[in-house]
Amino acid sequence: MDTSWEIAVIGSGPAGFYATGELFRQQSWEIKVDMFDRLPTPFGLVRGGVAPDHQKIKSVTKIYNRIAENPNFRFFGNVEFGSDLYQPDLLKHYDAVIYSVGSSSDRALGIPGEDLEGSHSATEFVGWYNGHPDFREYKFDLSVKNAFVIGMGNVALDVARILAKTPEELAATDITDYALEALRKSQIENIWLVGRRGPLQAAFTPVEVREFLELDDADVMLEGGSLELDEESQKILETEASKDTKKNIEILTQISLRKLSGKKKRVYFLFLASPLEISGDGKVEKISMVRNQLVKQDDGSLRPQATENKIEEDAGLIFRSIGYLGNPLADLPFDQKSGTIPNESGQVKDPENGNSLRNREYVAGWIKRGPSGVIGTNKQDAVETVHRMLETFLAEKMEAGQNVVLPDIVSLLESRKVDHVSFADWKLLDAHETEAGEAQGRPRLKLTSITEMLEIIRQKR
Ligand SMILES: Cc1cc2nc3c(=O)[nH]c(=O)nc-3n(C[C@H](O)[C@H](O)[C@H](O)COP(=O)(O)OP(=O)(O)OC[C@H]3O[C@@H](n4cnc5c(N)ncnc54)[C@H](O)[C@@H]3O)c2cc1C
Repeated sequence: MDTSWEIAVIGSGPAGFYATGELFRQQSWEIKVDMFDRLPTPFGLVRGGVAPDHQKIKSVTKIYNRIAENPNFRFFGNVEFGSDLYQPDLLKHYDAVIYSVGSSSDRALGIPGEDLEGSHSATEFVGWYNGHPDFREYKFDLSVKNAFVIGMGNVALDVARILAKTPEELAATDITDYALEALRKSQIENIWLVGRRGPLQAAFTPVEVREFLELDDADVMLEGGSLELDEESQKILETEASKDTKKNIEILTQISLRKLSGKKKRVYFLFLASPLEISGDGKVEKISMVRNQLVKQDDGSLRPQATENKIEEDAGLIFRSIGYLGNPLADLPFDQKSGTIPNESGQVKDPENGNSLRNREYVAGWIKRGPSGVIGTNKQDAVETVHRMLETFLAEKMEAGQNVVLPDIVSLLESRKVDHVSFADWKLLDAHETEAGEAQGRPRLKLTSITEMLEIIRQKR
């Protein structure tokens, strides 16, 4: 009898791979992992989120490739939890399941006019330029002059930077051809980054903001010119501010000293402002905003509060980038507010059932803790989940295979006619994309249609 523990991991992003890597690191446990992803391509947001001009960051996939080489690992791409496979299926085939499906929706601004044509989520734009199959058909009108990005996190900065770069700056990346073509024809001249809080509270990292100093054909400046901190923020800067915050302020100071140099585009950082309304005749034409001031709370934190001072600007495109949000999964509890699956150190708990813990279901990554942190943050997060799972197996005196009542998952997938792809299949696709890219001096030319991906895999098998 096979005494291996069989674990299903749903989602092949960083969290899914770090969880798998940690499972394989356990010397005293014999563990097999089947990883499922709704796309034929693995790596989640490393492929579909991380900006095309940040190729170095994408090299983290080398670690994931090594994990996938383990003989106890199988990848089932093009298999969606919630349409091809369901929770009861998994619980019949595996000892336990780790859900690491990320956060694929976004938070809305909740202001009038948000649904007008020309108002988009950063999720859509990022998915589009990165060739995520869900967004390949989206259209963005880049013939307008003014674009507003609402939010001041790294994703907002990615969106603004991609809009600000020249086609030549992007040409050697793996941005999709259709996005490069559309950006080549872009008429955008002014890009605004709008943050409700002040410079000291900005969520971006120094590495990301520094890139704005080096754009070939875009000047960067602070709206209003100089960098002004309120008294409380200045105090924090001098006392408890983190190293990154201090660096951010240094870089923003450099930006504030910049003069217009006649470049074709301009990027403005607008701090302490919140959008109130987007308006226009059938499409985005104007954005109204209110200036905020920071007010000290009882707990000592500074929160933005609207003033009487309003701003109205002509706008053609608006991207909201105020946070990603998880989607509920069938048969799992869900916390609407945080967009996460309720859990205790990664073990799923049922708030509607007295917070009882599920011994065979776990979560890792963004769906566990919400959309925060960098790729590496998911490692610690996944390690915690795996240890919680193994401790539970021991505490509950569970045995490998004890709950597995059905044979290999492949027969179920085949009976449901799911056209699943393996990691070896992905490697064929990967080789196809990188070879096509090499010919143009680019890291890869991405395929963006699932039908096309499956066709290439069939041809190359
Ligand atoms: C635009 C953007 C840029 C970023 N840039 C950086 C960066 O430069 N540096 C950095 O360190 N971090 C960056 N991050 C953060 C980093 O990408 C995340 O921390 C990380 O990807 C989260 O990992 P995850 O595994 O939880 O989710 P994801 O990476 O989203 O992976 C989830 C996986 O689950 C799959 N899935 C979803 N639903 C299902 C389902 N129902 N059935 C089967 N599979 C499913 C998805 O296809 C996906 O492959 C960026 C994030 C974004 C959004």
